[in-house]
Amino acid sequence: MNPSNQDWLERSRHAVWHPCTQMKRHETLPIVPIARGEGAWLVDFEGRRYLDGVSSWWVNLFGHANPRINAALLDQMNTLEHVILAGFTQRPVVELSEKLGALTGLGHAFYGSDGASATEIALKMSYHYWRNLGRERKTGFVSLENSYHGETLGALSVTDVPLFSATYAPLLRQTQRVKSPDWRLAEPGESAEAYALRAAAELEALFEARADELAALIVEPLCQGAAGMAMYHPAYLRRARELCDRYQVHLIADEIAMGFGRTGTLFACEQAGGLREGWKPDFICLSKGITGGYLPLSAVLTTDAVYAAFYDDEVGRGFLHSHSYTGNALACRAALEVLAIFEDDGVLAANRAKAAAVAADFARLAAHPRVEHARQLGMIWAFEVKDAQPGFSGRVFEAALARGLLVRPVSNTVYLMPPYVVSIGELQQAFDVLHRLLDEGLA
Ligand SMILES: *Cc1c(COP(=O)(O)O)cnc(C)c1O
Repeated sequence: MNPSNQDWLERSRHAVWHPCTQMKRHETLPIVPIARGEGAWLVDFEGRRYLDGVSSWWVNLFGHANPRINAALLDQMNTLEHVILAGFTQRPVVELSEKLGALTGLGHAFYGSDGASATEIALKMSYHYWRNLGRERKTGFVSLENSYHGETLGALSVTDVPLFSATYAPLLRQTQRVKSPDWRLAEPGESAEAYALRAAAELEALFEARADELAALIVEPLCQGAAGMAMYHPAYLRRARELCDRYQVHLIADEIAMGFGRTGTLFACEQAGGLREGWKPDFICLSKGITGGYLPLSAVLTTDAVYAAFYDDEVGRGFLHSHSYTGNALACRAALEVLAIFEDDGVLAANRAKAAAVAADFARLAAHPRVEHARQLGMIWAFEVKDAQPGFSGRVFEAALARGLLVRPVSNTVYLMPPYVVSIGELQQAFDVLHRLLDEGLA
């Protein structure tokens, strides 16, 4: 007999320490055992199906058990699974680095395993660049209010989510925070653009006072995911670039969540004026969707100028950073297949058509009297529930799950961020479930 949901959740509760979780909550809130996935759906051990409305924590792009990625991985597995990348190289890592370079207008791809390791790499590289130039005082970092850049100690230092960071404050570096351009914070009657520029004025004042102690500004371009899909006007990114140039501070674009088509363009930065031409960050961090949600992989790409500052006869001026699985061949091969799917299937255009097809359905949900700040960007739909009570997020999770929809609200922000293979009908179903929960007064 096959073990049931109940067996797996009990065994998991005893053997696995689940992430981002107070484990005691699982005395009452059940863990959901997943037996398999197909397309945008997850299936439990008793055959119940859940629409994956969070793309399995923002990583899945082309569905679970995607036949093309599966085939590419099987082929790679039978050729080469992994080899040390210090002093060695292999086909998938070279091809992927060339492709990412062409797509971002940056280069010299440096690999890590998770998003947080990409943040660490970018921070260390930026600091080390200034040091190699003899500007040892430039050791500080700036991030936006409500930012999220990962949870290892360096990344947590530039993350502004007190629930995750306050406990560890004595272990973290002091970093500067500046006003978030999040348009929900605009004054009544103030446009998103005007508010973004007002927020940028605070950045300018900080640079004016402290730029000689600052190495880099790190931002999540266009949308601060963990802040509750806080979207903002690209004017902020344009102004930040001007200021970073004027005051000689690096700009790090953390596209870990927003990269690979999530915001409607392949990279969110493109909406600030075109990555390959004028507007460019000094570092771009990529992860999450990079392998279509299959394997942990992250990459940091940078400018020729940064690379050149490390290129020297002296070993210590090089970037002596590594992870065991740096440039893993299987993960790089999955990423290559992801990029091939984008090209072959016209994914960005198809996503735009899908979003347009459900615009009226989303507008109906947005018009619900309990909803405010309804917003959509690429393949993200989000809104706040005005009268949400403490514990709202957990109750919506459970109630939606019972209706076959997986969503994980961030406090009173409900969002949908499904895999791109989701159909128009499935999106409409998801909006319907949320509409009904609001009608039933779930708060
Ligand atoms: C998820 C995320 C990270 C951290 O990535 P992990 O793989 O979870 O370490 C960093 N930055 C942003 C914007 C993210 O959304």
